[in-house]
Amino acid sequence: CGIIGFTGRREAAPILLEGLRRLEYRGYDSSGIATGTGRQLHIRKKAGRLQALQRLIAEYPAAGCYGIGHTRWATHGGATDRNAHPHTDQTGLIAVVHNGVIENYLALRQQLQSQGVIFRSETDTEVLAHLIAHYYHGDLVSAVRQALQLVRGTYGLAVVSRQEPGLIVAARWGSPLVVGQGTEGRYLASDTNALSGWVEKVHYLEDGQICVLTEQEWDVLDQRLASVPFVLQELPSDL
Ligand code: GLU
Repeated sequence: CGIIGFTGRREAAPILLEGLRRLEYRGYDSSGIATGTGRQLHIRKKAGRLQALQRLIAEYPAAGCYGIGHTRWATHGGATDRNAHPHTDQTGLIAVVHNGVIENYLALRQQLQSQGVIFRSETDTEVLAHLIAHYYHGDLVSAVRQALQLVRGTYGLAVVSRQEPGLIVAARWGSPLVVGQGTEGRYLASDTNALSGWVEKVHYLEDGQICVLTEQEWDVLDQRLASVPFVLQELPSDL
């Protein structure tokens, strides 16, 4: 239901948790984050109130200066810890958060299962993690693009890979996503409310666009991965 992302010069977890708190008003049944250090991803997720996630992270900190977060409003699969986002592939290479519905997930799931992939949740989202991992050969952007070519439905999504520290790839079809630059890094959210005070200017992704974010730079790409010029807009200051 809500997405937040950060890559920059500060610890990501507190920013992600604050972003999730600002997205709370949209309603949710579970929440979670993935952060990265070195070549490791740290996934923390929990059904129930955001407080439950905060407690989990207080006990098992999630270190790293980049990460993604999610508040879930379940469409496929109950509100359980396992079904909470982020979802990962079998080797923990990729972590994905997703808003929306993957309409053809059942066919994709069966196809992946017939290739030996073991699913750990009942969500439609999990197919994305396995598909992206399947196409991953060191380049997250092209893996995301290839996976999305097989997918029908709606998505706002954010993806990280433990092999490309600091990088977040986001994509949108029918589910809002906005990116912004602040003094300490770059941000991503499903809702401008989550970014107030952190960024002054934002770009609203259009359907079919993919956005590549690192601390140093960002790029908006079309479905062929060609860079498209993007216009920055002032974030309304009365949020
Ligand atoms: N369809 C996904 C799920 O049920 C995402 C739901 C959402 O947008 O929060 O896990």
